[in-house]
Amino acid sequence: MSRPLVARIDTAALAHNLGLARRLAGSARVLAVVKANGYGHGLLRVARALRAADGFAVLTLDEAEALRAAGFTHPIVLLEGFFHPDELPAIAHWRLQPVVHREDQAEILARTRLDHRIDVFVKVDTGMHRLGLSPRRLKEVVELLQAAESVGSITLMTHFASADEFEVGVAEQMREFRQAAEGLALPVSLANSAALMRYPETLGDWVRPGIMLYGASPFADEPGGHLGLLPAMTLESRLIAQRPLRRGEAVGYGGAFVAPKDMRIGIVACGYADGYPRHAGTGTPVLVEGQHTRTLGRVSMDMLCVDLTPIPNAHVGSVVTLWGEGLPVEEVAASAGTIAYELLTAIAPRVRIEEH
Ligand SMILES: *Cc1c(COP(=O)(O)O)cnc(C)c1O
Repeated sequence: MSRPLVARIDTAALAHNLGLARRLAGSARVLAVVKANGYGHGLLRVARALRAADGFAVLTLDEAEALRAAGFTHPIVLLEGFFHPDELPAIAHWRLQPVVHREDQAEILARTRLDHRIDVFVKVDTGMHRLGLSPRRLKEVVELLQAAESVGSITLMTHFASADEFEVGVAEQMREFRQAAEGLALPVSLANSAALMRYPETLGDWVRPGIMLYGASPFADEPGGHLGLLPAMTLESRLIAQRPLRRGEAVGYGGAFVAPKDMRIGIVACGYADGYPRHAGTGTPVLVEGQHTRTLGRVSMDMLCVDLTPIPNAHVGSVVTLWGEGLPVEEVAASAGTIAYELLTAIAPRVRIEEH
């Protein structure tokens, strides 16, 4: 038998989560965000499961070309636009929609001749201060693009910095956006998962859910299950050894965990080279035979250690759930001082993926 570590992808859960996004979106169209290899779930697998979406959003030309090569005819948005003008012929050829987030990109589009017009998203910075045009410059840049022979439709977009934090929310950025977009009769795209779930005033014409499609919550204070989401990835392995650990004995690198009493421990085939977070210290939740227990000591490259004291029936070969069904990835992430996004997208290429 091969190494027992596997990421099981539940394509029905992906479709279910898209259904929830669509209900929340009302009449807005849904741009399914499938960047970062479908948040670690596999780009084409995810796109097939989410083919009922109205469009896909990716980061790179390679990802977009992979979708086109697999036969997807949906609108495809390039979230960081083009990185170099030499990408524009391919963007036109594949009918991709780049985000224009810098003024010089609009100038390049205005002077480049292409075989077809390309539809663009124009990103305005309403307060995140990462990418986007200054609101004061928006109208002029839109006029330049409207006059450009290479440009077709224009959709205005912005991105929220704190839609997942109740105290901050979206009000300030919404105000900035409305002011910047006033008088421009153009479709808009504003909402990520958090805004889609909490702020109906952000729906606009296209919503851009990412994390919720994969079943994880964008909110620190509310797990995906409460929101009606189903986890799309279950990271599962097995015990490959078990042993007693006497009081005073230590386990793993640095002897970081010392047994306070006689215990039984198990060794799991999953480590940080698989994408399990090394920062997850003793006490990170884990399921063995479906029962809750905790990790012990430092995570190694290829394995980690769990407490079998509360699970007397555990044995070599027992199923271990690192996250997913029965154990929200958000809980593991919180324990490791990070977020579900990072854990899901960090799944290593060596992890076998199975679809069901
Ligand atoms: C990644 C991304 C999203 C999706 O965000 P989630 O929090 O995963 O829903 C939406 N819009 C843009 C511009 C993004 O980069």
